[in-house]
Amino acid sequence: MTPKNNLGNESYHLILAIAQVGRQFPLKPSLQDVEIFQHYFDPLGNLTDLDKRDGNCSRRELLLRYLLVNAVLDQGPDTEGVRTLLTRVTNELYRQEVRFLHRPADFFKELGIAVDQINSVHEAIKKVRAVDWAKTNQSRPSRYNLFLDNTRQVLNYAIFRWGTPLAVPLLLIRDNQEEDWVHTALLRYLETWPSAEQMSQQLKDHPRYGLGKAIGDKAAHLYAKWMNHSYALSTRTDLAWGPYSFEVPFDSNAGRVLWRTGFFLQWASLDEYARWKVIYKGQGKGGLDYLRITNIRGKSSVRAQAERSLLQAYQDLCVNYLKTHHRAPKTVEIQRIPIAILLDNGQYTPGDLDDGLMYIGTRFCFNHDAPLCNQCPISNHCCGHQSDAKLIRGYRT
Ligand code: SF4
Repeated sequence: MTPKNNLGNESYHLILAIAQVGRQFPLKPSLQDVEIFQHYFDPLGNLTDLDKRDGNCSRRELLLRYLLVNAVLDQGPDTEGVRTLLTRVTNELYRQEVRFLHRPADFFKELGIAVDQINSVHEAIKKVRAVDWAKTNQSRPSRYNLFLDNTRQVLNYAIFRWGTPLAVPLLLIRDNQEEDWVHTALLRYLETWPSAEQMSQQLKDHPRYGLGKAIGDKAAHLYAKWMNHSYALSTRTDLAWGPYSFEVPFDSNAGRVLWRTGFFLQWASLDEYARWKVIYKGQGKGGLDYLRITNIRGKSSVRAQAERSLLQAYQDLCVNYLKTHHRAPKTVEIQRIPIAILLDNGQYTPGDLDDGLMYIGTRFCFNHDAPLCNQCPISNHCCGHQSDAKLIRGYRT
């Protein structure tokens, strides 16, 4: 791959290499395991007839409701475990006629059934996955817990993490009873925003329909990714709802890969990261430096401003795709640099990049000092592996 320009050559090669891995190994929730969705797929495994009615909703609407719950739950420690939990609880609830995606109020009406199912499925998953999870993460099996915030109380988890995203379509329907609104209420609401990026921000922040603390920035962006990349559920066809219309959903896995490979240090210094509270000296496991990568959000790179072609791609991204600015911004936020690189190149998308980061972060780049670098598909591009082992050994996320 040859950069078209000088967009920080090392970053350019690295980001494209990760996105290429993501194109090869896409990661997304397996909707085909959800019994009510099985007939939505054709023999080749593609979703079909998305606007066809399924009871009181369109197929597209039901998928969006399900994925919203999935995005909120996905903030836990074991993505595969979380997705299994949601799939199995959904199947069990529908078998008992608790049709909570079609009628979100049913989840609250039958809260006893929902809580029992969440509890028993969680215990079953823990039995199967806890030992392997602990080995991979150098932890103890007893610490395996898919309820977020390390809570042990199923009621809190059920109401806060399941109930809040289900209450969004519930409230939208209560607020507007017109027949042609009800069966696509969530879809219509989401698509009122000028871009997928703005939609993801409003998912969290909107004063009436926002999920607030139930969803983080990463999960809101993950939802935008599933909607516009993985499952192409959006009906809008403009640039602001296309493949470059949302930020990559950075979490600690993605952040760890981008830190160890040296990407972040190409755009700001160690001192800047310490000042921004991205690095907490000596506060990580074993006295190592703790990285809080999510604190990079909104921080600007002076170095990036000096890269003329990067700045132009970035400005195009913000004004025409993310629609977060009316005029070309003068400063460059670090978390958007990868998307500007991808947009400039045009070969891969932010969805591909996120898939690559997840694939590498969860299968090779473990959060301890012995990641599987020799098997990692981007080891040739990784500064931590090639030349600066402190990037691996000195930090934990
Ligand atoms: S080479 Fe090693 S440190 Fe670098 S991204 Fe891969 S697993 Fe992580």
